Amino acid sequence: GVAGISESPLHPRHQTRRIMVGPVPVGGGAPISVQSMTNTKTANVGATLQQIAELTAAGCDIVRVAVPTQDDADALPRIVQQSPIPVIADIHFQSKYVFQAIDAGCAAVRVNPGNIHKFDQVGPSICQAATDAGISLRIGVNAGSLDKELYEKFGGPTPEALVASALKEARMFEDVGFHDFKISVKHHDPVTMVETYRLLASKGDWPLHLGVTEAGPAWQGTIKSCLAFGALLAEGIGDTIRVSLSAPPVEEVKVGCKILEYLGLRQRHFDIISCPSCGRSQVDVIALANAVTDGLKEITAPIRVAVMGCIVNGPGEAREADLGVASGNGKGQIFIKGKVVETVREDQIVETLLRYANDMAANMPVQ
Ligand code: SF4
Repeated sequence: GVAGISESPLHPRHQTRRIMVGPVPVGGGAPISVQSMTNTKTANVGATLQQIAELTAAGCDIVRVAVPTQDDADALPRIVQQSPIPVIADIHFQSKYVFQAIDAGCAAVRVNPGNIHKFDQVGPSICQAATDAGISLRIGVNAGSLDKELYEKFGGPTPEALVASALKEARMFEDVGFHDFKISVKHHDPVTMVETYRLLASKGDWPLHLGVTEAGPAWQGTIKSCLAFGALLAEGIGDTIRVSLSAPPVEEVKVGCKILEYLGLRQRHFDIISCPSCGRSQVDVIALANAVTDGLKEITAPIRVAVMGCIVNGPGEAREADLGVASGNGKGQIFIKGKVVETVREDQIVETLLRYANDMAANMPVQ
């Protein structure tokens, strides 16, 4: 299940209705889930399942796979059967794959009514098939695939245009009595994206899937996603998130999980507090902080480790953490829960911290 916290300490959650993506609830106050999408060829079942396993280990709650060809659609039953987390099929253009994905047991299907051939005709039977199978759908637009009419009416993929498009799709589903869907209105620009989701949230109670689409490589994309998701989640908007990076998908999951952890919306795992270092520091804080972070990257226990360069703020911060070091004079004072447990030479700081952290993690209940 989702190791999340339902209520944000920052703001009450925007009231949305709840849908299910397999066993994972989305909306209606459920913990915010983290999603990612595989970038293997879906038809390559082994590689896809291996990537899904990796994403799951990193904290992913829901995974999406692209279904552009018949071979991909044919692979869905095996993937669904063996995936430890619910699988969403991502389908553009061809409605026949939607039906195949539903038959394959996918937990949800992402459809883009804007580019599904003859959606007006096929939409109601998609809703019927989803209802019969008890699964949910995701609809909504990306700025890049906004329909031409709305693009022209609003002069581009503005928040109003994207929301108008989403509302039109939502109405189409609701008109045939289908309500088990969430909506995304993605844009690559964080400010436009925030405005768009705010506007959409003001119009109804659909569960919202947050995404900054085409956000760029890891560094840029992480910043854009943190800004946009941070702003929205701090206002209580958003029920499930997907960070999009031009990077291995596991990086998306790590960023998504950390955003939720740092917003107080998910149980914190290992965390490091380290000072930036300055002219006062007497050890190489940057190298030390990196070595400690790297040495503890597999730790999932909620341990907070402080690495401080001198005695000005050092002991104070080191005391606040579960475990820490305050350095001075080529030595490090190692603190555990505020008490100095030993003083070691600079070259022993990393190994000492790692030893204590691993001991602590081993003695904590499994998360
Ligand atoms: Fe500088 Fe010390 Fe603060 Fe680190 S803890 S930034 S070394 S004053």
